[in-house]
Amino acid sequence: MPFLLVAVVVWSVLRTGALLLLDRRQAAAIRGGSGAVPAAFADAVSPADHRKAVAYGLDRLRFGAVSAVLDLVAGIVALVWGLDLVSGIVSARIGPSISRSLVIAAVLWLVSGLLSLPLAAWRTLVLEQRHGFNRRSPALFLRDSLLASLLTAVIGGPILAGILWAMQALHGPWWLWTWAALTVAMLLAPTIHVRLVAPLFNRFIPLRAEMAAPIEALLARTGFRSGGLFEMDASRRSSRGNAYFIGFGPTKRIVLFDTLLDAHTPDEIQAVVAHELGHFHHRHTLNGLLRGIAFLFGLLAAVGWLAHQSWLLPGFGIRHPDPVLSLILAMVLAGASSPILGLAGNALSRRHEFQADAFARRMVGAAPMVSALTRLARDNASTLTPDPWFSLVHDSHPPVPLRVARLLDAA
Ligand SMILES: [Zn+2]
Repeated sequence: MPFLLVAVVVWSVLRTGALLLLDRRQAAAIRGGSGAVPAAFADAVSPADHRKAVAYGLDRLRFGAVSAVLDLVAGIVALVWGLDLVSGIVSARIGPSISRSLVIAAVLWLVSGLLSLPLAAWRTLVLEQRHGFNRRSPALFLRDSLLASLLTAVIGGPILAGILWAMQALHGPWWLWTWAALTVAMLLAPTIHVRLVAPLFNRFIPLRAEMAAPIEALLARTGFRSGGLFEMDASRRSSRGNAYFIGFGPTKRIVLFDTLLDAHTPDEIQAVVAHELGHFHHRHTLNGLLRGIAFLFGLLAAVGWLAHQSWLLPGFGIRHPDPVLSLILAMVLAGASSPILGLAGNALSRRHEFQADAFARRMVGAAPMVSALTRLARDNASTLTPDPWFSLVHDSHPPVPLRVARLLDAA
């Protein structure tokens, strides 16, 4: 077998194996804590809620393990056999051209989309449904999936065509131009999302008056200028509560889920908004954008170099070469470093969450933040007894017990 193929397959198997071992640790931690509600949550979380969270946590782990193994198998089949097969079939009908590369990419994308659809359907319509979180009908699920695929094709198709064109027309520095173009796209993305994409999936209305006044007051206290307060009909799809800020400068919007507004007290909602303001205060959003742009530079520099190496395609045993295969396989190799970057990214994100919590505590006090987090943990059936190693690898947010302990500690 070709050497790069062997290396990537071995690496993928080891990586999935390590993640499955972590899953076992997490399952053991959940089972170990299933006997009684942890003392810090005894007032707010009933034994019945706790049992529900244990069952949900274990179900999610089982689903995650099955998905991980199927992903591994599908990835190996694609590398060993699928990419070359599709390239061979398409190349027999279309001569070398950007159109040929696009058709190869489209076939691969459609096949992988169709293979992953049953798993996504199971997660929403069976797993989330069984635990009472899902509110999507099969029809709405299918509509969402089709609409998201259509958007990916409409947005991703021209971007890929542009990259393939740049690879051929600009030779060496194509990746630098691609980086510049994608950076502009990243800067425009929030505006496009707010104006064109999000309204396809949800309805946005001005925030209900009784909440708007206290939040305006909070914004004034923190010197935050917003382009509007909105509530979103998230309850159409799921019972989970959340809030997000999107955009830059004075046009940034604050969006609160109706599920959050319905299930929380005004004090708790203020605490959630204060936490989000903490991210802005500490410039986490801006820094995240700059890190994304820097990451893209590194990724494209690596892909730009790898895609032109004469050993790349033979290293994967490809007999029907095409520029889009060079691009895909260069991404596969460059992506091999993603677990390490993922670990670092999660560690940084957890630090930011603690900083945003501390900011919220300064603005509204510890009590509303603690009760908002506790209620969210209860309503979302988050595990209250996580395994620290599992959390280290997977969690972008610190587990709620740690956040609550930190808030109370510093009070
Ligand atoms: Zn946060």
